[in-house]
Amino acid sequence: MSSKKRSSRNLCATRPSGGSDYSLNVVNASASNTNFGQYSTFLFFKATPAVYPNNINGAFAGQSPATISNIIGTVGAHELVHRITGIGDIPLNSSNPRDLMSVDSLISNDAKNHTDSARNFFVQNQFQLSANELSKLLNECEKKHGK
Ligand SMILES: [Zn+2]
Repeated sequence: MSSKKRSSRNLCATRPSGGSDYSLNVVNASASNTNFGQYSTFLFFKATPAVYPNNINGAFAGQSPATISNIIGTVGAHELVHRITGIGDIPLNSSNPRDLMSVDSLISNDAKNHTDSARNFFVQNQFQLSANELSKLLNECEKKHGK
């Protein structure tokens, strides 16, 4: 996920061996799948999360390629946070409507109220992780890469 200000700190270092800790599939969705992205688990099986550029392109038609790329990154980050931290989709909290992990709830809320909050936050790259989500993510990084 890109951000307006880049931090000079590495949150999660790449392994020297070149292996990766997690994968993200960036693939077009099948016609029956209208999701922007997806992450599935079944019992102990954890799927590789996916983000669907074709569905994002379709929903955000008219936006610049840079904006579309940002949104693909935002959705990818959402799915990867599911995969890495085990945090699920959480209910919208009006005190933090930009929480990346409550975006599904925000979209439902928009549909109910005929508002465009999620769309605007996607386009303006304003979703973010809560302090609690960030700390869980960092904790997982430290488990893998801590000294
Ligand atoms: Zn989700």
